[in-house]
Amino acid sequence: MNKKIYLSSPHMSGNEMQYINAAFDSNWIAPIGENIEFFEKELSEYVNIKHAVALSSGTAAIHMALKFLGISKGDFVFCSSLTFAASANPIVYQNATPVFIDSEPNSWNMSPIALRKAFKKYKPKAVIVVHLYGQAASMDEIMQICKEYNVPVIEDAAESLGGTYKGNYTGTIGDFGIYSFNGNKIITTSGGGMLVSNNRVAIDKVRFWSSQSKDNARYYQHSELGYNYRMSNILAGIGRGQLTELTNRINSKKSIYDSYLKSFEEIEAIKMMPIQNYGTPNYWLSCFTLDINCGLDPIDIIIALEKNNIESRPVWKPLHLQPFYKSCDFINHNNYGISISEQIFNRGICLPSDTKMSEIQINKVVKIIKELFR
Ligand SMILES: *Cc1c(COP(=O)(O)O)cnc(C)c1O
Repeated sequence: MNKKIYLSSPHMSGNEMQYINAAFDSNWIAPIGENIEFFEKELSEYVNIKHAVALSSGTAAIHMALKFLGISKGDFVFCSSLTFAASANPIVYQNATPVFIDSEPNSWNMSPIALRKAFKKYKPKAVIVVHLYGQAASMDEIMQICKEYNVPVIEDAAESLGGTYKGNYTGTIGDFGIYSFNGNKIITTSGGGMLVSNNRVAIDKVRFWSSQSKDNARYYQHSELGYNYRMSNILAGIGRGQLTELTNRINSKKSIYDSYLKSFEEIEAIKMMPIQNYGTPNYWLSCFTLDINCGLDPIDIIIALEKNNIESRPVWKPLHLQPFYKSCDFINHNNYGISISEQIFNRGICLPSDTKMSEIQINKVVKIIKELFR
């Protein structure tokens, strides 16, 4: 069997061990230590934001942002529908109600048209906007609408670390940004996340909550509910080593996307995920949609690749179609008919986008797919 080609697997730089060793040498395995402080500082500098707190996951980061915004029972929170469930689950942790917003066709991200419709129907307490597969959403329009209604914005930049919108890094445009360092993301700590903001009070508060809300007392005293959400010093060391490679990873991801784009140009039925010129994605995953009348379904391609030990995947199943979220409202971009997010789900595929792939391996993926069109 050929060596497996992955969608997106961890890619170590070689610099990680030096930070992990430093933690071992100082016996600063836990709880808090130098690597955490430096990882927060180095990441903040990279994306140009004032404050950051390293957490156990991106999901925890969304949860803490919602908690800081006072989201609770009876509140509505708008969230992109075409995303991973972790974008919305923290809304439910806070006993609030998600309302899912459709995608726009040109970026696959939250549709400003649908968002405006949603504001006519609900008064939400927050908006969670996702930057899907590494590309920024239409942030000017989204921020403008949220400003009109005076509603805070949380950017779920779990997939888009290093991607920009009009010169600003995704995650630094709204009131809060979150990043994930899960194993499949562009950089990884095996598991971890970061909450960033220019709001110092907010980040300090989340740092307090996420380390069990320990009051400043000799004994363990708690005036508020605590969470065990901090990142470990060892994992922060991996993060520091990974961060040194982020720019290189983005360049590799982009060249993977460009190869696919060029290779599939001649196949009319394949449309690569459209890239908008308002930003520079991190190209986390290369995706395409298949025209509806081309005689092939996404699953045919996924199975053909699987037979060759190559991993690919459907695009995220929209959250408004998830059994768990079926009672939640959804605001369609279109006035009638099938939504944009459902169309993308029905016809979309995520291609292997692993930065360790060789050119030969990329060509192999392309060849297998092209042969299906013969
Ligand atoms: C991965 C991901 C998350 C969750 O991050 P974790 O670190 O795994 O908790 C949230 N939102 C999106 C869009 C993601 O892709």
